[in-house]
Amino acid sequence: MRGPLLAATMELMQAAPLTVLDTLRRPMRDLRVSVTDRCNFRCLYCMPKELFGADHAFLTRPEVLRFDEIERVVRAAVTLGVRKVRLTGGEPLVRRGLEELVASLATIVGIEDLSLTTNGSLLAAKAQALADAGLHRVTVSLDALDDPTFMRMNDVGFPVQRVLDGIAAAEAAGIGPVKVNTVVRRGINEHAVTDLAGHFRGTGTTVRFIEYMDVGATNGWRLDDVVPAVELIAAINARWPLEPVAADYRGEVASRYRYRDGAGEIGVISSVSEPFCGDCTRARLSADGQIFTCLFASSGHDLRGLLRSGMTDASLADALRALWTGREDRYSDLRTLETVDRPRVEMSFIGG
Ligand code: SAM
Repeated sequence: MRGPLLAATMELMQAAPLTVLDTLRRPMRDLRVSVTDRCNFRCLYCMPKELFGADHAFLTRPEVLRFDEIERVVRAAVTLGVRKVRLTGGEPLVRRGLEELVASLATIVGIEDLSLTTNGSLLAAKAQALADAGLHRVTVSLDALDDPTFMRMNDVGFPVQRVLDGIAAAEAAGIGPVKVNTVVRRGINEHAVTDLAGHFRGTGTTVRFIEYMDVGATNGWRLDDVVPAVELIAAINARWPLEPVAADYRGEVASRYRYRDGAGEIGVISSVSEPFCGDCTRARLSADGQIFTCLFASSGHDLRGLLRSGMTDASLADALRALWTGREDRYSDLRTLETVDRPRVEMSFIGG
């Protein structure tokens, strides 16, 4: 066998569906990669201005993983069974040259789904470059369809239309169908639920409504602020009758519903009212190179030190395997009034 063919075969063998299970027999299938802790929005529930102001100590450049370091971690994760990779942040599109990272990840044999979660603010300008680089899909966060509510939530005066332009650009560039993520907060954007459902019905875009979660410690989360998924479904069902759709695969976070009239689907992510830890197959890599095995973790495991110590790829994969096989967290299943007060890392830091 000659060089390139041998290399491709070796890579395929490494990417063979090896299953590394944690203590609860959950495989590692998804990796979320936060490429920056910075964001150009100051969403009230995620990066409130009072805490993420001009004097906030964001990561310095040397602290943030370089693209080649991210690529090494992703390659190692793929050898352990990861098939889905999602770039997130902070706001991933504020990281300069992100399409170069996408292009390098797109060449990794074994990744079946390479996606990006973004607030959409820079998407109109970048959609084509991302598509050309090999991105498969994009998810856009959008919490309301009316400017007063949306601007109140993003807290930087960003208008809805520019996010809609980003969604249209992504569809035109072929990185659709776009999914829209909407975090619902009691008393702030409940009305946006039927607005968004109505707007995207029949367009091929699926809106996924997310229960407001107690990630991080800065958003002043209270259970009263959560609109339970059953209530969201009831509101939409009253306007446009729905029926449940079976999950596509183990670990699918959204429960899916389709409109009975055939106008498409919606999803709900009920991480508070119906936790799904038992099916959680996700690991998270923070922008500074720590692996978190739970969105609600209070600490991560440093890989940056290992990456910069000259460690081989095989040893890196071993370190990752050891982390995963020792994993036992299931915060949402155990959530009680007591655990709600535990220290937790911010969502903007480890990526949603
Ligand atoms: N900046 C990108 C964006 O806006 O999509 C990616 C990062 S953001 C942290 C990822 C997702 O997390 C967004 O859809 C955001 O709405 C969601 N999110 C942030 N804080 C949340 C919370 N407390 N509860 C539920 N979802 C939250």
